[in-house]
Amino acid sequence: MIPARFEYSAPETLSEALRLLGSDGEAKVLAGGQSLVPMMKFRLAQPGHLIDLARIPDLNFVAEENGAIRIGAMTTHNQVETSALIREKCPLLAKTAAHIGDVQVRNRGTIGGSVVHADPAADYPAALLAMEAKVKLVSASGERMAGLDEFLVDALTTLLEEGEILTEVHVPLERAGVLTAYRTLVQPASGFAMAGVGVRLGVENGTITFARVALTGVGSKPYRATAVEQALVGQGAGAETFAAAAAHATDGVDALSDMHASAEYRVNLAAVQVRRALEDAAGSA
Ligand SMILES: Cc1cc2nc3c(=O)[nH]c(=O)nc-3n(C[C@H](O)[C@H](O)[C@H](O)COP(=O)(O)OP(=O)(O)OC[C@H]3O[C@@H](n4cnc5c(N)ncnc54)[C@H](O)[C@@H]3O)c2cc1C
Repeated sequence: MIPARFEYSAPETLSEALRLLGSDGEAKVLAGGQSLVPMMKFRLAQPGHLIDLARIPDLNFVAEENGAIRIGAMTTHNQVETSALIREKCPLLAKTAAHIGDVQVRNRGTIGGSVVHADPAADYPAALLAMEAKVKLVSASGERMAGLDEFLVDALTTLLEEGEILTEVHVPLERAGVLTAYRTLVQPASGFAMAGVGVRLGVENGTITFARVALTGVGSKPYRATAVEQALVGQGAGAETFAAAAAHATDGVDALSDMHASAEYRVNLAAVQVRRALEDAAGSA
């Protein structure tokens, strides 16, 4: 399939990219092209102008600052997976990146592109929500920060406004002693999650003191399973606690139903995946 005709620009600075984006209502940003290009080939997207961010060096970096890891939007999934800083200071994110697609997708796809695309079954959001990450949005008139929970509005819908570019993802440094795991059951043809779970677990003297659990692929957008977290804190870390808490995996969520999995199946799968992810995290001590 051949995309419709479009103009192509490859600016070398963020300010030039923002100027181009602001001056053409038909323009769209191109990152790794792993979601946008297939959509253009199917003519589900027909931007008149692509603004390629690949030549802007300031958008590809990983740095530690003020208690957080800052990750440039154009950092590829492979770079996230292999970055020594991310592996040491935000291990859940590196573990999650390793599950995305295949080698080609991980070499081209970017963290910024994945977050902005907002696929309800994308892997990163389960980790980023569990890590209480924030995103930085920049336009010609200023910049703002948003928590990922507010940024992800619905399937393929975000807080990003016209003329804005997501430039960074900020992830707080992992707390000392917190155990992490990412577990996903994928739809075999696409590799996307039917239920993916990111877990962070703090355990002291056998008692759970801290829990963050987030899911992707289950509802119309990834979400924090706060009822699971509440059922964990203060309890003994063990199989019974994990199973009882996991039963709350879809509290308040309308599970998706499609040709790959009914809503009933997804509800059951989500509970199983949460229980197993909790066991994985606890077992990683
Ligand atoms: C075969 C295949 C398998 C895949 N499997 C998985 C999987 O298992 N798990 C998973 O999570 N994902 C999977 N993906 C999707 C992949 O992770 C993509 O990389 C990601 O969804 C989009 O990132 P990108 O950098 O390619 O963005 P693009 O495709 O270039 O852009 C996506 C959208 O985001 C916008 N955009 C991009 N960057 C920015 C920015 N910085 N600021 C503002 N807007 C921006 C674009 O305008 C476009 O609308 C798969 C993709 C393919 C092709």
